[in-house]
Amino acid sequence: MKKYFLLLIVLLIATNSSKLFTQNLKYVHKVLKDLTAKEMYGRAAYKNGDSIAAEYVAKEFAKCNLKSINDSKSTDGYKQCFNTNCVILENVSFELGKGNVMRPDNDYYVIGSSPTTNLELENVRPLLIIDKAHWELVKATKLSDIILVFDAKTFNMDVKEIVSFVDTGLGNIQPKLVVFQGYEQISYYIGRDKILKYPVLQIVGDKIGQTIPYIKLHIKTNVVEHTGCNVIGIIEGKQKNNYIFLTAHYDALGMFADKVFHGAHDNASGIATILDLANHYSKSANKPEYSLVIIGFRGEEIGLVGSNYYVENPVVPNDKIKLVVNLDLVGSGSGGLLVVNGDANNTKKYFKEIEKISNDEFYFHKISTLPHKCYSDHCAFVEKGIPAIFMMTAGEECKYGHSIYDNYENTPMTKYESLFRLIKEFITNTK
Ligand SMILES: [Zn+2]
Repeated sequence: MKKYFLLLIVLLIATNSSKLFTQNLKYVHKVLKDLTAKEMYGRAAYKNGDSIAAEYVAKEFAKCNLKSINDSKSTDGYKQCFNTNCVILENVSFELGKGNVMRPDNDYYVIGSSPTTNLELENVRPLLIIDKAHWELVKATKLSDIILVFDAKTFNMDVKEIVSFVDTGLGNIQPKLVVFQGYEQISYYIGRDKILKYPVLQIVGDKIGQTIPYIKLHIKTNVVEHTGCNVIGIIEGKQKNNYIFLTAHYDALGMFADKVFHGAHDNASGIATILDLANHYSKSANKPEYSLVIIGFRGEEIGLVGSNYYVENPVVPNDKIKLVVNLDLVGSGSGGLLVVNGDANNTKKYFKEIEKISNDEFYFHKISTLPHKCYSDHCAFVEKGIPAIFMMTAGEECKYGHSIYDNYENTPMTKYESLFRLIKEFITNTK
């Protein structure tokens, strides 16, 4: 009898905790689905998608009764707004061969800061750049109105490098169009604060040869002064004037042609996680040791503008921040957990605590730290000397970075429960 009673208790606990699990996960999936909906237009300046997303995050803050940062009684109380110049890619279409419509992502992207372009040509000979020596020769001459084609493997540059190359590295060449081709896979890069002089096309495979029988490329680009907002809420801890920050960017890459960048893994996953943690800590029984400042940043994808603005315009003293935990790309986890900047002098001890919790509880089979790089919003804090780490999950299941396929269906939140518990136990126990 005693045995059965014990078994019953074990079963009861098991069903109860699994219920708790599914509730968390259900909420997280709902947020993920809502933020990646096409009605958010890719959460960028295009059609004010970013403002729609900011309002969504603010409403969730209000539901948790987070403390606002100004006197407004509406959701505006959570918003820290400012203007930036934004490049908006309003439309794009590309045919290579008459009627042969190229598909975004599968076939090509144009770099988001390409200028408005209306190009339609038949039987044109592009200038295929063979190698670097060849380019040096070409560059020394004066040429205009040509299509310049670079091999992406020979001229191995990331998009930032391509942008600066096209901006300042073309010598006397004034091309109609710059093409990088030969990619196996491409990522989209949203325009930043200015428009390039020449359009830049990135093509999967070697689609362009010695002659182009037909090419049609239309791009419509606009620069606008755009208002966007960081969304900030506070939960008071036992030590009211010391803070842990939980941050994630809510913006994504807008739209390309008629396709939405859903930004699920990058970074609806991070927002869903900080909202779930906000939910947890807003209950009086779970009052944390340190106060929590929860921030959804705007404009990460256009150059970390939200976090950079925040550190210059802080709502609590920067020197009272114990640690910033920035979450970006946390939809996977089969490959473990990566902690960027966990090896700095002012973050080492926190990383050790996180590592210990994870190992003791078997949350991730692998947890590693990477040296600091400005991949995400932790950067602005690090550069101010504030302890900040950036957590991202690893795993092949989320392989569509900066792609229209980074959507709800492709983002399983594989290790969500582990991640939630790890951060929760860290926040609850760290002193
Ligand atoms: Zn991101």
